[in-house]
Amino acid sequence: MAGANQTCIFCQILHDPNSTTRLLHTDEKVVAFQDIKPAARRHYLVIPKEHISTVRDLQRRDEDYSLVSHMLSVGQELLQKDAPQTIHRFGFHQPPFNSVDHLHLHCFALPFMPRWKVVKYMSLGPFGGFIEAQKLLEKIRPLSSKV
Ligand SMILES: [Zn+2]
Ligand SMILES: [Zn+2]
Repeated sequence: MAGANQTCIFCQILHDPNSTTRLLHTDEKVVAFQDIKPAARRHYLVIPKEHISTVRDLQRRDEDYSLVSHMLSVGQELLQKDAPQTIHRFGFHQPPFNSVDHLHLHCFALPFMPRWKVVKYMSLGPFGGFIEAQKLLEKIRPLSSKV
């Protein structure tokens, strides 16, 4: 399968016809499903169908920028639909803090459960931790952007 990585569990979700993961959203670019270990009232992941390892693989270019903004809008729509009255947060783990090497947007409807889980999704400064989706978009916004 083009762009698939044999050892990647997210690629397996995408390409294994026997996968039991229920997809909450699917389109030509991305899919969304529940995090297997939810850390908040709602905790979804949005992943690109193409195997992109981490945020480090994203660059200032239109295709990357539009992919991430699309992932964010899919996450926003899902939480808006499923948990409209709550605070939403969106972001990415940065290496070496990412658990799965396939780019995935964490989408939370707060509160975190249990509450200490917030630590796992806090920014630890420029060198690691968690990066808010909006911040990542600023970082990869093409300089001559029309989007
Ligand atoms: Zn993958
Ligand atoms: Zn993660």
